Amino acid sequence: MGAPEPSKAVAVSVDLDAIACYYRIHALGEPPAGPARVAVLRRCLPRFAELFARHDVRATFFVVGADIEEDVEGRALLAELARAGHELANHTHTHRYDFARLPAAEMAAEIDRAHAAVGACGGAPPIGFRAPGYAINAEVLDLLRARGYRYDSSVFPSAAYYGAKALVMAAMRAARRPSGSYLDDPRVLLAPRAPYRPAPGAAYRRGGAGADLLEIPIAVTPIARLHVIGTSLILAPRWLRRHLVAAALRAPFFNLELHGIDLADAQADEIPPALIARQPDLRRPLAHKLAALEETLAAARAAGARFITLAEAGAA
Ligand SMILES: [Zn+2]
Repeated sequence: MGAPEPSKAVAVSVDLDAIACYYRIHALGEPPAGPARVAVLRRCLPRFAELFARHDVRATFFVVGADIEEDVEGRALLAELARAGHELANHTHTHRYDFARLPAAEMAAEIDRAHAAVGACGGAPPIGFRAPGYAINAEVLDLLRARGYRYDSSVFPSAAYYGAKALVMAAMRAARRPSGSYLDDPRVLLAPRAPYRPAPGAAYRRGGAGADLLEIPIAVTPIARLHVIGTSLILAPRWLRRHLVAAALRAPFFNLELHGIDLADAQADEIPPALIARQPDLRRPLAHKLAALEETLAAARAAGARFITLAEAGAA
């Protein structure tokens, strides 16, 4: 009898940021009122559900509380996904990009209101959290610990992503059109790549006790720390996408982060041209984006990976 196969796991998560979030990032003013307003929940979410059903993936959806309070149809879709075994997790109530800079009471309210809305929708209280714009700190982690959360998945230790975001934000400031987004503390770039228990008072360092909250960082490649998320996979040429996915799959655990907008069909979903002009992934056809994600899931399966939710990763 040989030893059991070394187990590899992939957790796929989808941040359900509404189109209005991208209006804030790109400083586009008032978000659209038409179908684009609810496109992420009503149009993109069903495409993810179908993709995941085809590949036998149970995923984690990071839900913005106010969005499901407002959109009954979107909430019903999510409730159905929760019943099918997907995980619903907390992505704050209103997805403020300055969330981690708010006074503690306001941060707590953002967590608690979403906690109630997501719990009511999914039939169980959420146990996982992701901050808007990947910005986290020790205070947020303490609020999560006090509420019994098992994991946070906000740390994104990618120098390439951080640098690109800093450049875009500097250019927007220079053009007097400052972005609604914020850069995380640069110490995030030295954070571990593998899941870790953050030390008390330090979000980016190991050192927490055995049963403490787990931080599950978003995937980056070893050494170069290139980000392996939906947007990079969709925009990369095929050779680079294969390289990124293969590199991420060399680790025992691959935390693959996607966004609802990754499966938008810009024309059919009536995404306004002003946003399409600023968001290169919106200029790729839906078929291309589906194929890129499909290929990624197939590669994970071929590498012998099991698909698990982040809650399951947090419990392992
Ligand atoms: Zn988000």
